[in-house]
Amino acid sequence: MPAPRPLIVGNWKMFGLGANIEDGRQLAAALEAQPAKARAAICAPATLIARLAAALEGSAVIVGGQDIHPQPRGAFTGDISGEMLVDAGARMVIVGHSERRAAYGETNAIVAAKTRAALRCGLEPIVCVGESLADRDAGRTLNVIRKELTESLTTELTGAKFAVAYEPLWAVGTGRTPTVDQIEEAHVALRETLGHILGDAARRVPILYGGSVKPANAAAILAAEDVDGALIGGASLKVEDFLAVIRAAG
Ligand code: PEP
Repeated sequence: MPAPRPLIVGNWKMFGLGANIEDGRQLAAALEAQPAKARAAICAPATLIARLAAALEGSAVIVGGQDIHPQPRGAFTGDISGEMLVDAGARMVIVGHSERRAAYGETNAIVAAKTRAALRCGLEPIVCVGESLADRDAGRTLNVIRKELTESLTTELTGAKFAVAYEPLWAVGTGRTPTVDQIEEAHVALRETLGHILGDAARRVPILYGGSVKPANAAAILAAEDVDGALIGGASLKVEDFLAVIRAAG
């Protein structure tokens, strides 16, 4: 089974105002002028999704959300449902980002419920897992990420379009990255875990690396075994840098 098409996803986090729609337009124009091998996506703050999706309609840039509530509607002040994301024009959504797991106590069970909600709505979920520095120092990395992945997935994923992101907590937003060997070891372990759940179809699931990826280190990371793309925070906020990472995928 062929490897999946690379996927490069920008996570704008809580950055971006109306003026930044222009950044999305510039990215789309650059990809139209010179198409990339990778699929490219921007997971925008909720306030920008509809405007960004309208501006990028018909372009090569996919628009996504950064979180999703498990329920379709209800008295959940401040939350956003998958149906709302789709209505706004999103086609993808990040679930279980380490910042949400840490700041909002999202457990694997909650992440699995969010993954299920994304699939219910036809959104492509990007399921994030990653170890803490304490886990890595104690030699627990592979056990931690295998368990996190297994418990964050759902049976509905069989045959569905989704991605996994390996994001070591200590590398997100810190400027620190694991070695390419460490990244590869984690990705091979995650592919094996997906294989236990999905069989041969595990080969089709993009496994993204995330954590301080930038133009200078992107090519080496993206060339590693079982790395099918990247989830990019800081470097996705500058069109030039984000484009350089997209191009580094081939
Ligand atoms: C992220 O937000 O998922 C991320 C990987 O951030 P950064 O690239 O800034 O480390």
